[in-house]
Amino acid sequence: MKEESYDVVVVGGGPAGSVTARTAAERGLDVLLIERNLEIGVPVKCGEGVSREIEQFVDIDSRWICAEPEGFVTYGPGGTRVALLTEGSEAAGYVLERKLFDKFLAQQAAHAGAEVRVKTQAYNLIHENGYAKGVYANSAGEDIRISANVVVGADGVESRVGRWGGIDTTLPLADVATCAQFLMCNVEVNNYFENIFDPEIAPKGYAWIFPKGGDCANVGLGLGGDVSRVNHCARDYLRAFVNDKFPDGQILTEMYGAVPLSGPVYETVANGLILVGDAARHVNPITGGGIIQAMQGGAIAGDVIAKAVREKNVSKRRLMEYERRWKREFGRVLEVGMKIKNIVLNLSDEDSIKFFRPLAGDIRLTEFSERALVKEMIKKNPRILISLVRMIF
Ligand SMILES: Cc1cc2nc3c(=O)[nH]c(=O)nc-3n(C[C@H](O)[C@H](O)[C@H](O)COP(=O)(O)OP(=O)(O)OC[C@H]3O[C@@H](n4cnc5c(N)ncnc54)[C@H](O)[C@@H]3O)c2cc1C
Repeated sequence: MKEESYDVVVVGGGPAGSVTARTAAERGLDVLLIERNLEIGVPVKCGEGVSREIEQFVDIDSRWICAEPEGFVTYGPGGTRVALLTEGSEAAGYVLERKLFDKFLAQQAAHAGAEVRVKTQAYNLIHENGYAKGVYANSAGEDIRISANVVVGADGVESRVGRWGGIDTTLPLADVATCAQFLMCNVEVNNYFENIFDPEIAPKGYAWIFPKGGDCANVGLGLGGDVSRVNHCARDYLRAFVNDKFPDGQILTEMYGAVPLSGPVYETVANGLILVGDAARHVNPITGGGIIQAMQGGAIAGDVIAKAVREKNVSKRRLMEYERRWKREFGRVLEVGMKIKNIVLNLSDEDSIKFFRPLAGDIRLTEFSERALVKEMIKKNPRILISLVRMIF
């Protein structure tokens, strides 16, 4: 078997893997990034919506931006419309072209000095003395033994790297959203991120319409994994939804995927191993969004790995710095998100209506942060403060 050796091998060429690889390479490490697919960023399994928080992690490039929605419009049960809009005509976020965005991030990793290799699938870990010491991979039909001081599991929702390294990444059905999405044209699109909460349309989940430019939109929905069944799966619900909402719409692409809504795995590091992005379940349990945490976690992971490799100490204890830092940066968002998700999913229809109704109308935000949003919600309905406190604690 062919043998190769690197400081770090990153498994998975999504946003988490590319940002980890870029950061570690920028700090002087010898990095290999492997992706099982033939092309980085394809197939796309994403609604492609991000808030402007992304600007903290990458300079926006119009080549991979399809639309700049002006706000988030949510339709609650009973049709209540809650609109979070920017002041003026500023964008509230972006709809990406992930085929190009993911390639851009991988290109940045390559420019920083990482080696990027597609059509290369990891199929097991190399274990030595209780440490992960690399991976076995198949690259275009050839088996390779890739040694590395640190293995990064950036292998997405289906992650196997964690399991190979002894980390429990099991996802109970109720904690997975099964999703379907159509890229459609001939649809009447509003320049908003639109979300629809209605148990008839998407039980234990929600539907979304994100503008993709012109008369195109990503129209999708996710259902609780425990309610999806034959003839009642996400695809069936989505067909019914688009037939009703966009009778003249045409489907250009169909996509199916899963989103982990479990909150983070209990431990995201082991000896010589780190999990990032969806593999670490770093997804907001309310929105299902994971792109920003994937990049944020990747940047922390790359930094910690570089220090640990230089210090010649890649023990779990040393790598725990990664866990402490991601918890500080976005752990609270995931934790509170889990609590709210569990409560919202168990609200009766009547209670959901009671929650949404006082928020009906337009809320103008000068800044699109969670803090600004909660402040405005409380201003609009002070009783929400009591409900939120009750929900969270
Ligand atoms: C339907 C749907 C809609 C979504 N909408 C949004 C949204 O609007 N906004 C948002 O922020 N998030 C959204 N998400 C979530 C978002 O797509 C993920 O959180 C994000 O892609 C996570 O990035 P990642 O790098 O961790 O994983 P991924 O992007 O999944 O990348 C993992 C990569 O690892 C590769 N891989 C897996 N196993 C191996 C292996 N053994 N060897 C080599 N390579 C391997 C895969 O091929 C893949 O390319 C959505 C997800 C779904 C399914």
